[in-house]
Amino acid sequence: MESKIKIYEQGLKEYSKATIFQGNLLMILWVFLGTISCRLFCPLTGWIYLLFAIIMIGIILRKLLCTNCCYYNRWCCLGWGKLSTLFFKGGNIEKFKDSYGQKLAPFTYGLLTVIPLIFLLISIFQEFVFFKLMILILLLLVSIYSGAINRKKTCSKCRMRLICKGCAVKQN
Ligand code: SF4
Ligand code: SF4
Repeated sequence: MESKIKIYEQGLKEYSKATIFQGNLLMILWVFLGTISCRLFCPLTGWIYLLFAIIMIGIILRKLLCTNCCYYNRWCCLGWGKLSTLFFKGGNIEKFKDSYGQKLAPFTYGLLTVIPLIFLLISIFQEFVFFKLMILILLLLVSIYSGAINRKKTCSKCRMRLICKGCAVKQN
């Protein structure tokens, strides 16, 4: 049977190592700043945030999304297509669009963005110190750059952009 999946053929078969490095660096910085923000409210919330980020981004979404992606076993924009082959068996690209991962990803990234901001703002109102303001500014800058500007760049070259619900560029 012919596949109904429309791959964006002009997209990159594999991304450069520099793009992958930059993407991972931004992701690590984002989670690091989120963890610090939660920790400034209470150390336990920092640990819970970090654990949640590692489990969701590093394991659950890799299993639910990457195994059904055309970049499985390839160097995608974050290199996680390769990473997921080390831990999970390949799936079926036809399942990508309606997979649980597509529903879970915006929820996960939304929580990971909003929760540290809430805790940090509460912490600032409880006791203002300049360091907290610096973390807030950095967190906003990294979130905006990686979530909007950098994501648009990588999504525009992604072969999954026609079927990915999380694609940050207009479909065509
Ligand atoms: S493009 Fe996204 S879903 Fe596909 S392998 Fe890379 S990280 Fe996973
Ligand atoms: S379109 Fe964007 S969000 Fe979707 S898999 Fe590709 S790079 Fe990831």
